[in-house]
Amino acid sequence: MAREYLKKAQKHSTTDASETQRIVREILDDIEARGDAAAMDYARKFDKYDGPILLGAEDIERAAAQVPRQLRRDIEFSHANVKKFAEAQKATVKDFQIEVIPGLTAGQKAIPVTTAGCYVPGGRYSHIASAIMTVTTAKVAGCENIIACSPPRPGIGIAPAIVYAAHVCGADRILAMGGVQGVAAMTFGLFGLPKANILVGPGNQFVAEAKRMLFGRVGIDMFAGPTDSLILADRTADPIIVAADLVGQAEHGYNSPVWLVTDHRPLAEEVLRLVPGLIDDLPELNRENARAAWRDYAEVILCEGREEMAATADEYAPEHLTVMAADLDWWLNRLKCYGSLFLGEETTVAFGDKASGTNHVLPTSGAASYTGGLSVHKFMKIVTWQRATPEGMKPVAEATARISRFEGMEGHARTADIRLRKYFPDEDFV
Ligand code: NAD
Repeated sequence: MAREYLKKAQKHSTTDASETQRIVREILDDIEARGDAAAMDYARKFDKYDGPILLGAEDIERAAAQVPRQLRRDIEFSHANVKKFAEAQKATVKDFQIEVIPGLTAGQKAIPVTTAGCYVPGGRYSHIASAIMTVTTAKVAGCENIIACSPPRPGIGIAPAIVYAAHVCGADRILAMGGVQGVAAMTFGLFGLPKANILVGPGNQFVAEAKRMLFGRVGIDMFAGPTDSLILADRTADPIIVAADLVGQAEHGYNSPVWLVTDHRPLAEEVLRLVPGLIDDLPELNRENARAAWRDYAEVILCEGREEMAATADEYAPEHLTVMAADLDWWLNRLKCYGSLFLGEETTVAFGDKASGTNHVLPTSGAASYTGGLSVHKFMKIVTWQRATPEGMKPVAEATARISRFEGMEGHARTADIRLRKYFPDEDFV
C-alpha cells in the first residue's frame, strides 16, 4: 500500500488501565460487602449527591415539567424512530422447529432476558440519546424489568431530560446513581431493585471497567473505549462538511480519535486548513476536548484509490464510518468493518447518535472487526429445545451410547441404554 499520512496520531488510546482497575475493584468489593449504604457513600463522594436514589412518579412528573416542550417532542420523535428500527430487528428473530430425522423434532426460541440495566452517562454531557437507545431497545425486545441509571448532578439529581427520555421509552425504575456504584446497584440488586441479567450502555473508563469486572455474573453489551469515527471522502466531497463532521466527533472527549481517509490531496489539505478554525469556534469545554483529540489522536491519510481507502477503513474498523464519495452503492457493498455506516453527506454520525433510528451504542477501538452494536438481539437469548418419539429416539440413542463409550463417558452411555431397553425390550443393542 502507498498510504501517505498527512497527519499522524501522536497517541493511541491504549493507556495503562491498572489504576482504573484498582479503583473499581476497591469500590465494587466495598459495595458488595456493605450494600446500599456503601453505594450512597460513593454517590456523595463522586457526585456530591444526597437526594432520593430511586425516582418516584412525582419526581418523574416534576422532571418532565422542566423539559421544554420542543425538546420533549424531539425526544418523542427520536424514540419513535429507534422503536421502529428495533421492531424491524425483532422481526428478524424467528422461533422455528424442524424434524431433524423422522420422529426427532428440535427448535429454537428467542426469550428476552428478564431484567435489563441501562447505564445512561451523564457526567460531562447530558446523554439524553443514550437513554433512548438503550431503554427503547430493551423494551422492544420484551424485557420484563428495565432499570435506567444515570449520575445525579449536585443538588439537582439526574438531568430532567434524561429522566423524561427514560420514562417515555419504557424504564420501570429510574436510579439516580452513576459510575461504579450505579453499575453495582443494578448488578447486586441494591435499593430493592431486581438483579440485572444484562448491563448495557456507554460510560467512562470507570463504568466500562466495572461492567468488564462483573461480566459473568451479569451479561454486558460490550467493553467500550473512547468513541471513534472515520470519514472516507473523494474529490466529490465538500471540505467544509468533512471538516465539520470531524470536529463534531472530536468533541466527544480528549482521546476520541477522528480519521479522514481520502484519495484527493486538495481535499485533505483544505480540511487540514479548516479544522482548527471550527474547533476555535466551539464553546470552551467542547473546544478543549476537540482540540486535544485533534492534536493527539487525529489522522489524515492519503490513499491511491477507493479500493485502498476501503481496505484502510476495514483495517481501522471504526465505530462510526461515513462515506462522502461517488457511487455509494459500491461502498455499501464493499465495506466490511464498522459499527454504523453513514452514506452520503445528507446523513451524518450525529443523526445516528441522536435521532435517526439506528442504535448509537457501538463497538469502539477496532471491535467492529468482530461485532456490531447494541440491538434487540443483545437482550434476547437464543435457546433450543427438542422432543422425540421412541422411533426418533432410537438411532440417536444408539449413536450417543457408542460416542459416549468411545469418549470414556459411561454414565452418558447408560442414559441412552436405559431408554433403548425400556422402549425396545426385545432388541439387542451393541
Ligand atoms: P459517566 O456517567 O460515564 O461517568 C460519571 C461517573 O463517573 C460519576 O457518577 C462518578 O461516579 C464516576 N467517576 C468520576 N470520577 C471518578 C473517579 N475518579 N473514581 C471513580 N469514579 C469516578 O459520564 P462521563 O464521565 O461524562 O463519561 C461519558 C462517557 O460515555 C464518555 O466516555 C463518552 O464518550 C461515552 N459515550 C459514548 C457513547 C457511544 O455510543 N459510544 C454515547 C454517549 C457517551
